[in-house]
Amino acid sequence: MIGHEFLHSPGPTHIPDRVLNAMRRQPLDLVDTRLKETARTCFEDLKGVFRTDGSVFVYAANGHGGWEAALANIGVPGDRVLVPEIGHFSHSWAEHARALGYETEVITGDWRRAVDPQQIEDRLRQDREGRIKAVLAVQVDTGTGIATDIRAIRAAIDAAGHPALLVADTIASLAAMPFEMDAWGVDVAIAASQKALMCPPGLTILAANEKALKACTGLERRHRYWDWAARLGDEYYTKFCGTMPEHLFFALREALDIIAEQGLPAIVRRHRRIAGAVHRAVETWSEGGALSFNALLPEERSVSVTAIRTAPSVDANRLRTYAREALGISVAGGLGALQGHAFRIGHLGDINEPMILGCLAGLELAFIELGIPHGTGGVRAAVEHLARERATAA
Ligand SMILES: *Cc1c(COP(=O)(O)O)cnc(C)c1O
Repeated sequence: MIGHEFLHSPGPTHIPDRVLNAMRRQPLDLVDTRLKETARTCFEDLKGVFRTDGSVFVYAANGHGGWEAALANIGVPGDRVLVPEIGHFSHSWAEHARALGYETEVITGDWRRAVDPQQIEDRLRQDREGRIKAVLAVQVDTGTGIATDIRAIRAAIDAAGHPALLVADTIASLAAMPFEMDAWGVDVAIAASQKALMCPPGLTILAANEKALKACTGLERRHRYWDWAARLGDEYYTKFCGTMPEHLFFALREALDIIAEQGLPAIVRRHRRIAGAVHRAVETWSEGGALSFNALLPEERSVSVTAIRTAPSVDANRLRTYAREALGISVAGGLGALQGHAFRIGHLGDINEPMILGCLAGLELAFIELGIPHGTGGVRAAVEHLARERATAA
């Protein structure tokens, strides 16, 4: 492939050269003060990204590991959790909880709308003995492109007067859309390095408040590696339950510097602007009758990933393979129930206007070459959206 490849999966995402270069060095001795300082400042800055005064934990693991880390610390087998399901990732998280022995209740949906918080409130009201330990909510379900209003879920828990912890999967949303862990009353938040945090895959990052830490004290410990208690000390060897994933921290340090230089509000605005461009293009393409938004309500369409349904006449996997192999554009496929019937454009992390326009234009080229019906002028609509947004921002 000549020229740039366009990686538009919703994770792993494009990595800035600065972040890649930060990893090109020898490891440091585990007690080297430079290493400790890197870890210390990363932990401190991550609190700022989660917007919390709580405790941060970083594990050498992916996002699935992050789910398990949270579940291993907030309860024991036999405890109950409630999962509002908005797509493949909330579905899989529930499966993880079940596998760990949790009695797992799912509020199912059609994967095209967020779950109505009233349903959560109603279910919690019925739980008079307070058996439900936690509500597990995904902020952006990467499988469906649907965003959940986390504040509304906290409001539902409070309205029911229920003690359940609120655990939020912010893996595809942290540093892309607003998230205010403390102000919104989130007890545990889970992130991963390879999405909007612009790092290679390999780290899962959790934040937990006092209430969550209390829930974990006194539990019978089964999961030594995930255990928060051991990681709360100052000793870095125990903080990581062994060797620190040093190079991923060198990368994270650089990525956190980039985030600080841009500022979270500007990052959120950029994600909104770029998502708007994608949404304008998809609206236009939809006019051809073969492509449509998965998320039915515009206000529930996420700023980090857009899932596009394909009519039965369109082979979504063929489109995806063609785009990648013939044009160097990687978009993701449909997951779970959407497998073969959708493709997903990731637009989070280290991304600017020309990058998304390259992706959208390349997809239009693929539609033409594969004979996929689509309304014409999607790229133009995206460009005009960006021009309008940039003019208002200036
Ligand atoms: C990517 C993702 C996961 C899984 O993360 P992995 O690193 O692939 O294990 C979980 N939840 C959401 C919302 C995600 O986007």
